[in-house]
Amino acid sequence: MPIFSCEDRNKEKAMSADLPTTIVIKTTDSCNAACHYCYEENVVDGAVRTIPLDVVEEIYRWAAESGLAKVQLVWHGGEPLLTGISFFQQIFSIQAKYERPGLEYIHSLQTNGILVDDDWIELFRSCCIGVGVSIDGPAWLHDFQRPMSSGYPSHSRVISAIDRMTAAGLRVSLSAVVTQKSLGAEREIISFFSALRAESVDFLPMTVLASKLQGHAFLISATDFCQFMSEIYKEWARLGEERISIRYLENMIRGVTGCLPTLCTFSGRCGAYISIDFDGSLYPCDSFMRAQEFRMGNLRDNTLGTLLSTSRYHTFRADIAQLPHTCENCEIIQACNGGCPSERYSGDGKFMRRYPFCETRRHLARLIVTDLNAAGVSELVRIPMVIHTESPQ
Ligand code: SF4
Ligand code: SF4
Repeated sequence: MPIFSCEDRNKEKAMSADLPTTIVIKTTDSCNAACHYCYEENVVDGAVRTIPLDVVEEIYRWAAESGLAKVQLVWHGGEPLLTGISFFQQIFSIQAKYERPGLEYIHSLQTNGILVDDDWIELFRSCCIGVGVSIDGPAWLHDFQRPMSSGYPSHSRVISAIDRMTAAGLRVSLSAVVTQKSLGAEREIISFFSALRAESVDFLPMTVLASKLQGHAFLISATDFCQFMSEIYKEWARLGEERISIRYLENMIRGVTGCLPTLCTFSGRCGAYISIDFDGSLYPCDSFMRAQEFRMGNLRDNTLGTLLSTSRYHTFRADIAQLPHTCENCEIIQACNGGCPSERYSGDGKFMRRYPFCETRRHLARLIVTDLNAAGVSELVRIPMVIHTESPQ
């Protein structure tokens, strides 16, 4: 089991200031894949709708004046590679105008991998862009769920893209959606990901998108996800040195051993994130994208600084900072922080519902504590040794 250094824990906490430090940008809503579980409707059939460059410039203007030391820009979609390399070259020309001493821009990009070629790899390498690739697992699983918009399978192209990027020395992280089809195949899935040379993989339960896909055949329950992650954990622990980094599990281990989790869904640092849609609309996070009640205005009408200082935005921040009473006295609060507010959101304007994956986290924490005890390193555990089956009511 990996053990993480916590020396920088207080420094990281101090960074969780009031201002967002990670800006997720919907580069386009167009896509060349037709994943069966996706909520985007604009499968590419003509012109690609791209975020206007004046919106991008406003983001940089705000960042340059923010006083922040680091701003992370995450280029998301749709499929961002549909915008073409020239679009990103224009972005880096804009960035050059807003370079400031003491300010670092960090870039990452989320792609389905279909269009990755040598030119893109050179851009990622020369501009230090971290690449996230969506791949659900072995071909039988991925191609069933993520066909191209043409109807053809995409798995072999995605694998080729991952291989070429890792061979070029790029840092590639993977994300896999867990659906009904994934259940029972945990061993095969973890072997598949461990064989790739990527840096990490994140498993995303198909419940995340559930609000827009009620009744969808691929949806899984929180209990299903708990079972899936438990099996993944056991197999991952067994693999030892050959295993890939799994962000969900490593965040649990960080929390259990007293380190600050890195994923927002574990750290409770929602305020560090905002999301900008391709039309310039501001949302507090990607999870609230296109929900009108969470649209905070548009960067074409107001500056980003103005939108972040509205009472509406501050009220939202205060609302999501509250934890449901079921989290009071929780033994693993520092490892979970109440989970993701968007998944607790009940639809009546409240975030006080019990976190749907509460028991998943408590169960994984129990497995991890048991293994740390068995390994004779129980002094690393920073939560109570006994974690009850149900959260405090
Ligand atoms: S709402 Fe959820 S996904 Fe969004 S920043 Fe908060 S924890 Fe992260
Ligand atoms: S009660 Fe559940 S959701 Fe709340 S902090 Fe504890 S494990 Fe997380």
